[in-house]
Amino acid sequence: MSNVAAPAEAPVRDHVFHRNLLKKYPVAVRAAGVYIFDSDGKAYLDASSGAVAANLGHGVQEIVDAMAAQAIQVAFAHTVRFETPVMVETAGRIADLSPDGLETVYFASGGSEANEAAMKLARQFHLDSGRPGKHLVVGRWQSYHGNTLGALSAGGDVGRRTSFSPMLAPYPHVSAPENEPLESVCPHLGSPGEQFDYIGEFEQVIARVGAENISAFICEAIVGSQQGAVVPHPKYLGRVRELCDRHDIVLIVDEVMTGFGRTGKNFAVEHFGVTPDIITFGKGVTGGYAPLSGMIVHDRIVDVIRERSDGVFRHGYTYSGHPVCLAAGNAALTYYTDNSVLENVVAQGRYLREKLDELQARQPRMGPVRGRGLLLGFDLLDVRGRRHITSEAFNEMAMQNGAIFYPGKGRIDGIRGQHLLIAPPLTIQRVDIDLMVDILEQTLTDVDVDVS
Ligand code: PLP
Repeated sequence: MSNVAAPAEAPVRDHVFHRNLLKKYPVAVRAAGVYIFDSDGKAYLDASSGAVAANLGHGVQEIVDAMAAQAIQVAFAHTVRFETPVMVETAGRIADLSPDGLETVYFASGGSEANEAAMKLARQFHLDSGRPGKHLVVGRWQSYHGNTLGALSAGGDVGRRTSFSPMLAPYPHVSAPENEPLESVCPHLGSPGEQFDYIGEFEQVIARVGAENISAFICEAIVGSQQGAVVPHPKYLGRVRELCDRHDIVLIVDEVMTGFGRTGKNFAVEHFGVTPDIITFGKGVTGGYAPLSGMIVHDRIVDVIRERSDGVFRHGYTYSGHPVCLAAGNAALTYYTDNSVLENVVAQGRYLREKLDELQARQPRMGPVRGRGLLLGFDLLDVRGRRHITSEAFNEMAMQNGAIFYPGKGRIDGIRGQHLLIAPPLTIQRVDIDLMVDILEQTLTDVDVDVS
């Protein structure tokens, strides 16, 4: 600090360690509904719900009020010493929404933290059950479970993993199915035109590393950021469940992006009729109003911890069960129910899908639309003789045009390249969907006009 005034022309130093230190970011100063406004007054239609988290749009007064009331009542109580009414109530509501048997909820702050906790809980469950060798987590390529080192080890985003690889745990990976029904063709699933045996590959990994060494299998039921809303064959997850049962492998389903209605069901596993041992959640549980995440744990695991570990899960975060974040979650869950948000997802998801299918039919750069509910995606294709564009660059152009999508890179081997995820707030209405699709079309057109 200095008392000497800086010369007028000196640039103001920005002390924020931005995601990209070289980039100039628009300044978000206001938000309402599905729109964010920057300091120049420009409006952005948020077709990505931030990072697929601001699921209820902006300015929901009930959630803000609940947070303020909780902050006055008890802003913080360490969960090592206390429980709070809001924690008990929110856990109960989440358990009610979950598949039968998943009755106990552990809270954390972010999705990565939730997955770390889930992997450690699986390990403790095996230790307590007399299976001490079980320590490896089998993950899938083209999956994302978070940026902390354990979650990155289990995840399969090659780009994010590569430079950190010596620090990652040596977890095995299997392939993630391609979109059903086009490419998800596995002999175990009884599809014609078999291409790849996903279940057989998992069996081979189990045989190679030994079931006695495998603690858990982690996957997203419908893959979000890494594949761009890829839905597997309807039987895939059931077959995975069978293998996990046969080999005492804890099945962790990561619903950080898909939980709380995003795909038209409370949890994406419901599309496949499968009950995991642990579901992890985050993002949308508060509609983005506060950081809250966690895991919902099946009784068969909780009972073992209760009986063999004196009831103690050897894990914890300072901000686990933060009352203000829970108040946001609790109020958001009330809002979901009171405003029939799930029904809106189904109706608007169908409408958006129709509009995108229509657009795809006249836009050679759009691959077939896929996904469920309001988690839709498509590959951004190269067109012969026209310039290549990355999904990141495409999204920058879309932002210029007034909408934000969720760009993704997909595989690095070129089979699935650039894709775009479309995941607007679950409260979106037709008029905003129409505008969003218009901006998408405009941007697709601009790509060929703008040859800079
Ligand atoms: N799991 C999935 C499926 C995600 O999409 C994400 C974030 O995008 C995470 C985990 C990590 O969550 P967070 O960024 O809150 O740590």
